[in-house]
Amino acid sequence: MREFILAIAAFGAVLLSLSGEGQAAPTFEDVFNRHGTIMLLIDPASGEIENANPAAAKFYGYSQDQLRAMKIQEINTLTRDQVAAERKLAAQENRNYFIFRHRLKDGNVRTVEVHSHPFQFDGRALLFSIIRDISKQRALQNDLWHYQGRLEEMVDQQTDEIRRSSRLQVTVLSVGGVFLLALVLMLWNSLRRQNATQAELVDSETRYREIVEKTQDLISRVDREGQLQFVNHKAETIFGIPPEECIGRSAFDFVHPDDREKTRNAFQDWVANKESYVVFENRQISRDGKVHIVLWTIQIHYDEFGEAETLTSIGRDITTRVNAEQALEKAMLDAENANKAKSQFLASMSHELRTPLNAVLGFAQMLRMSPDAPLSKKQDEYVSSIETGGEHLLQLVGDILDLAKIEADEIHLFLEYVDPKAIAGECISLVRHLAAERSITVDDGFIGKVVPMVRADPIRLKQGLINLLTNAVRYNVDGGKVLVRQEETSDGFLRISVEDTGIGIDKKHSEEIFTIFHRLNVDPTRTVEGAGIGLAVTKQLIERMGGRINFESREGEGSTFWIDVPLSSNRETLVWADNLSVRVPAIDEDHKELIRLINDAGQPGLTAAGAIEICSDLVRYTLYHFRREEALMKVCNYPDMDNHIKQHRTLEAKVKAFQVRVEAGDESARGDLRAFLRDWLVTHIMNVDRLIYDYAVGKEKAIETALQEIS
Ligand code: ADP
Repeated sequence: MREFILAIAAFGAVLLSLSGEGQAAPTFEDVFNRHGTIMLLIDPASGEIENANPAAAKFYGYSQDQLRAMKIQEINTLTRDQVAAERKLAAQENRNYFIFRHRLKDGNVRTVEVHSHPFQFDGRALLFSIIRDISKQRALQNDLWHYQGRLEEMVDQQTDEIRRSSRLQVTVLSVGGVFLLALVLMLWNSLRRQNATQAELVDSETRYREIVEKTQDLISRVDREGQLQFVNHKAETIFGIPPEECIGRSAFDFVHPDDREKTRNAFQDWVANKESYVVFENRQISRDGKVHIVLWTIQIHYDEFGEAETLTSIGRDITTRVNAEQALEKAMLDAENANKAKSQFLASMSHELRTPLNAVLGFAQMLRMSPDAPLSKKQDEYVSSIETGGEHLLQLVGDILDLAKIEADEIHLFLEYVDPKAIAGECISLVRHLAAERSITVDDGFIGKVVPMVRADPIRLKQGLINLLTNAVRYNVDGGKVLVRQEETSDGFLRISVEDTGIGIDKKHSEEIFTIFHRLNVDPTRTVEGAGIGLAVTKQLIERMGGRINFESREGEGSTFWIDVPLSSNRETLVWADNLSVRVPAIDEDHKELIRLINDAGQPGLTAAGAIEICSDLVRYTLYHFRREEALMKVCNYPDMDNHIKQHRTLEAKVKAFQVRVEAGDESARGDLRAFLRDWLVTHIMNVDRLIYDYAVGKEKAIETALQEIS
């Protein structure tokens, strides 16, 4: 503003001198070339700089000639739209200047106040622009008094001259005075507004600072080279030095040496891919050597040329959580190994038990059928008891063997497209005689319906359905009813349900019912067969086939158990089958588990907490699988390992980002995570993991040792 006043005053002087008296009048060129104010003459139509004074050359860093060959658009960093917006704003705020951002020759960008007025020069209308650098936000208040002092001086000078000049001059000066007064008032007004805005800024900054200083997360900002520009108090814990000592140091200095390269690579990848928001995990090391595992949420800011400018990060110390998870993972693995050992023992024991049992049953039969020694009535009763007990025991041993096989991962499923209507019919006819003994009716709701084909192992599907039907009869009342029904679910399954009018199950047992050896309401006075294994076996088998099992019940009224089997048209549900095998057992094992978890995560009606739990299991297992596969590739000297590991890292970041979304309550995130992992798994298995086999052959022992180290 001051420059503008001075320039106007200088013009006033020019006018006065032109009007006649006084010493030799300064020309416009004199004022333009000698005045320290930055002045430009611009062609309003093309933006070409017609003339620039030496002050402008000094400010912009270009020579006057260079400036005269440029257009104002090369200096003004605002786009055409931004310029238009600023012009509009200036009009709304009733100001006669614009705030622009001008780029100097050395690349620095300055905020400038531009006062522009059209003037006639040699018959051409040019914009006469006076530019003021307001970047440094000088103390306006001081300036104001300074301007006032100067103004008074000027007014005195001019009054003297007025005395000596004509009425016309008096008029000119009066107009100039009013004009100057108006400028002073505007200056006051803008100063007041600026003070108010500053107060608001201070207030909001105080609030933000409070948040930044109280949060338990590490907040930091680095430049594009990774140099720290800001850290909050948490740096003291994670980096081990006071925040002020961190400034100017490279953020990579505080990264654990083993994670430094991965962090640098990730950093470069984000910037190269123009990522603006990433989630990343690494280990930091503090000055005293303490390791912190930190989950970073990073926002990357780019300048108007698309160059990364700064990275603002919020880092959460998840060391305790990760350690707990690792301990839990290890405990789970130990438990799983122990369980496998138990299953192997049971499997061999079951074989051992079956042989003598079959002998006992065979001899009992021979006793009954021997024509030489017919049995007395009493003996016949004893033999019957041996037979019933023996068969029950055999069934039990069969169930145990199944369970052991499932757990030892030795069960083979043969998936095919099967007709559920035929399967249900066969199963119902098998339990009818058992039901008839207690006058229980079994209705087949499939009759008369067109039922779609499902994808399942027919023998195992039958086994599961028979188990539900036997229970519906066993735990029914005499003269009760059983109804078998089917319906398609909205997510691609056929639901086969078995409804009974029996004793029902208390809600509190709903979790335990599928656990092995869990029996409820066992009335000691009634000999109800069963050992609490059937449902556990059925659940495992059905889930292996990509299906689901559940029930609803009201105590004293009856229960409905159902099995959901994937329809043959269902492409969403993955089922492990031999065609997915990569022939490396450890990798196959992981893929099977991942498929199970992916299917589990698709269960309808999961609570929010349930969804978070299952997704975090899925993410954890995915990362665990990556670690195992990488160790395996190393042992095998797999040639494409580096590339493969790189792919893992990218996937890892994506999977973690999904988890963050799930945890934040984003309802679509669970489906997205499943779809992402499902697609990845299938293409990855088909295209990449298969290649590992050739290098893994013959290295089984070394692989086993390497994998043991991981767990
Ligand atoms: P079991 O061989 O004992 O029947 P299951 O695993 O098939 O073993 O069933 C476990 C327990 O669940 C049973 O002991 C019984 O207490 C309960 N149960 C299963 N089905 C029903 C049903 N339809 N009605 C009531 N209770 C049932």
